[in-house]
Amino acid sequence: MRRESPTTGEDSPKRVKGVYIHIPFCLRKCFYCSFYSVEIDTTIVEPFVDALVSEVEYFKEKISSPFTLYIGGGTPTCLGDSLLRLIERILILLPSEPLEFTVEANPATFERGMLLPLKALGVNRLSLGVQSLRDTRLRLLGRAHNASQALEALETATSVFDNVNADFIFAIPGQSLEELVEDLERVVSMGVSHLSVYGLSFDEGTPLKRLAEAGEITPVGDVLWREMFLGVHELLIDKGFVHYEVSNYCRNGRVCLHNMVYWTHREYFGFGPSAVGFWNGRRYYNPSDIRSYIEGVQHKNLKRWVEELSDEELVEERVMLYLRTSGGLPLKKIPLPYREFLLKKAQELAAEGFLRIEKNRIYVPFESFPVLNSILVRLI
Ligand code: SF4
Repeated sequence: MRRESPTTGEDSPKRVKGVYIHIPFCLRKCFYCSFYSVEIDTTIVEPFVDALVSEVEYFKEKISSPFTLYIGGGTPTCLGDSLLRLIERILILLPSEPLEFTVEANPATFERGMLLPLKALGVNRLSLGVQSLRDTRLRLLGRAHNASQALEALETATSVFDNVNADFIFAIPGQSLEELVEDLERVVSMGVSHLSVYGLSFDEGTPLKRLAEAGEITPVGDVLWREMFLGVHELLIDKGFVHYEVSNYCRNGRVCLHNMVYWTHREYFGFGPSAVGFWNGRRYYNPSDIRSYIEGVQHKNLKRWVEELSDEELVEERVMLYLRTSGGLPLKKIPLPYREFLLKKAQELAAEGFLRIEKNRIYVPFESFPVLNSILVRLI
């Protein structure tokens, strides 16, 4: 029998690892997106699936239980039935059932008929890219779906899965706080267990960035940005959600265990073009090009960029990642030679009200999350 999603992050065994699979296809590119993805090309789907399975096969001995499995992208659901066949082939290679098994889906490629087979394969968490419930905002973002498709997808997803995340974007030009709150209330009422709510970013090289530089759109100002950040928090706490990471909320204990692997600096394996892994003190990066990825795997010479991290860099990463979480950083996670320096800096910031130190943990209080980056600069 398949395992239900665990109810709380605290239940997860200490040694849990992550397995991430990147599906680099989308129906079309959203205007704000800087992830590696290409428009779906059916002629390379099968060679891509074969390459991915070979890559997992090559590494399978290193993956031990317990682990989480996350199929993201890109848009995994745009693979259609090929996604189901891919999952079947990958599960055979893994040492056990995943502790948590998430698949990302886009309302534009969402087919009701796909959900039951996904569930039968062990998927116990669905993550939907909703982003907004207003057609004007979705058009500005270049999303391939409209608001009614998003609502329909949410309704279907929550009728099949008891653990559904909706991704949302705030600070979209033209969006008001009232509109954002209304949209989130609607999504909450549809039974999602998890919400990831990110502020819109204008990344280099994206069409959205170019539009902003050309003065055709105006990014939301700092004051409204902060009001939205706080407004989202107030609403979701009022609705019984728990805030457990800068941009992430859950209810009924449905913390995303896979993302907690990243934020608590545990090891993970990344497969597929542009996937990143962290293992044995090293971070590796797969090539962000689907054709060189497929050829590299086929000829057994996949060129990964490997970054050896020094002890100091590992400590810095650990501080940056743990402090994103509401649970904060347990000081015992920092090796002794660095702990004293960190505590001294943390005490300075705590005296100014930016940090809290309690029970041998350093926390960022919610009100300080909007300035997390400047806190980190002073801390490390
Ligand atoms: S669906 Fe997601 S991955 Fe694909 S282009 Fe849009 S934001 Fe990027």
